[in-house]
Amino acid sequence: MLVFTAAALAIACTVAERIGTERLREAGAHKLDLYAASLDSALAKYEYLPGIVTLKGDVVNLLRSPRTPGLHDSVNRYLAQVNSAARSAVLYVIDTKGRTLASSNWDEEASFVGRNLDYRPYVGDALRSDTGRFYGIGTTSGKPGFYYSRAIRDGNEAIGVAVAKVSLDPIEQAWAGAGDIALVVDASGVVFLASKPEWKYKTYGPLGAKAAAMIEATRQYSGARLTPLALTAEDTSATGAQAVTIADEGSLRRYLVFVRPTSEPSWRLILLADSAPVSTLVRNTLVFTAVVLAFLLLLALYLRQRRHAIRESVAAREALQRANDELERKVAERTSDLVATNEHLSREVAERQRAEQVLREAQDELVHAGKMAVLGQMSAGMTHELNQPLAALRTLSDNALVLLARNRTDDVQNNLTLISQLTERMGKITGQLKAFARKSPLQLGPVSVRQALGNALALLDQRLRNGQIAITQDLQQDDVKVLGDANRLEQVLVNLFANALDAMQGAAVTQLGIVVREHAARVSIVVRDTGPGIAPELLPRLLEPFVTTKEQGAGLGLGLAVSAGIVREFGGSLVAANRPQGGAEFTIELASMLETRDA
Ligand code: ADP
Repeated sequence: MLVFTAAALAIACTVAERIGTERLREAGAHKLDLYAASLDSALAKYEYLPGIVTLKGDVVNLLRSPRTPGLHDSVNRYLAQVNSAARSAVLYVIDTKGRTLASSNWDEEASFVGRNLDYRPYVGDALRSDTGRFYGIGTTSGKPGFYYSRAIRDGNEAIGVAVAKVSLDPIEQAWAGAGDIALVVDASGVVFLASKPEWKYKTYGPLGAKAAAMIEATRQYSGARLTPLALTAEDTSATGAQAVTIADEGSLRRYLVFVRPTSEPSWRLILLADSAPVSTLVRNTLVFTAVVLAFLLLLALYLRQRRHAIRESVAAREALQRANDELERKVAERTSDLVATNEHLSREVAERQRAEQVLREAQDELVHAGKMAVLGQMSAGMTHELNQPLAALRTLSDNALVLLARNRTDDVQNNLTLISQLTERMGKITGQLKAFARKSPLQLGPVSVRQALGNALALLDQRLRNGQIAITQDLQQDDVKVLGDANRLEQVLVNLFANALDAMQGAAVTQLGIVVREHAARVSIVVRDTGPGIAPELLPRLLEPFVTTKEQGAGLGLGLAVSAGIVREFGGSLVAANRPQGGAEFTIELASMLETRDA
């Protein structure tokens, strides 16, 4: 990029310099044409003037016989007249020896009359070849001018020369206003016309010895110090235009040099064109090129950045798409996995429900089996319970027959009333048994703890009485209701009471304690006895089925296992422990049915 920039700047610089130079050259050529035309026309303007003088008869007479009185005066006046009419500087007549015989400025202080001017080349030139032209500084007046000379002939003989001196100051003045530096240089290289007055009578390049001698001889620039202009030519092979640097007024200025010949063969018209416009053009072009390059660079950078951004966004979009596809694929995979898992779960749930159903049925069977076991255990007591009234019934009915035979109807009536009461009591017992033995499905609801305790104690009434058991009940003031199934809760209580009675057989103190407490939406029912307590090795697995210490036939080891299962079904717990003061303690904890009681 650096190389490219440098090359572009170099090319721009070269091209701008070429174009600038070319423009200057064209303008310079045009100006040179104008300057040359004005110079030529100014020179041509007075060419005729000496010829007119040669035609004057008095002039020829004066040259032929210079001593003729009055002739000088007449020619002088004539010359002055023509000179003023033609607006030339001086008009005068010279004889073949170079002496001035008459002059338009005869009456002025710097009169030419009587002066010998044979050193001036225009005298000899005219005598030899009819005309002469010369530029120089006047040796008498000290004023520069252009001299036209023409031979004055009498027949074929050249007898003198007529000379017209013309000032070229107007040309210089016209040029000075143009702004360029225009110079006219003679064959020796002396600048004798210059749009810059201070450059006049300097030499354009060094003065040769021969030329210096010639100037000396012709007194061409009398009084002027011919020093060379302080100019340095430049190597200008690149643009093809010659250039010079001139030290002027303390600063170095650079000019392009354009040269043109003039109608005067030995002169050269030189135009020095200030090269500042070229430098300006080069500088502007460089600035412009630099700006364009900077713009292109920025554009390139912007496009690059943009392409980069587009590429990145495309890549990001593709990555997103890929991630999305991947996600969708994974979701599909997971979904199918989930569907499969779900089906699997549904199957498992169905199986589990079936298994639970089977288990529930098994549990119900087990509960029933437990009940039957209790009933079995209770059967001895029950038999006794029923046998007693049966024996009483027989006796009463036998008595009734005897009393009837004796016609003691009142006594018969009493007997029958007793019989009726006994049957009622038996009916109650069998009713209780029937109710206990009923195979009922689980029905959760509020259950009165007081009622459940009463029913359970009633079932064991005979045994309690037989065993002379003291019952202490510590119940809440109000009846407490728990979540459960009345029939099954009674079964649990019967189990616990029966076990307590079994344990207290033969014990010194036989006390059955029942405590009911309600606390924080839980109700605990504690059953205590004064038996020997539970064997410690038995405690950890006490609630497992078929754990028993009772002799064969007396216990199956199902009571506590079934009880624990029932309590669990109610959402409660059964805990067995030994009391520190002796005896076992079973605690049933159940959810209290507060709302129901409140209602
Ligand atoms: P079973 O009464 O048929 O043996 P249980 O499950 O009702 O079955 O009782 C298991 C065992 O727990 C009993 O054999 C007994 O050793 C012990 N047990 C139960 N209740 C008590 C108690 N109140 N005091 C001491 N041991 C008890």
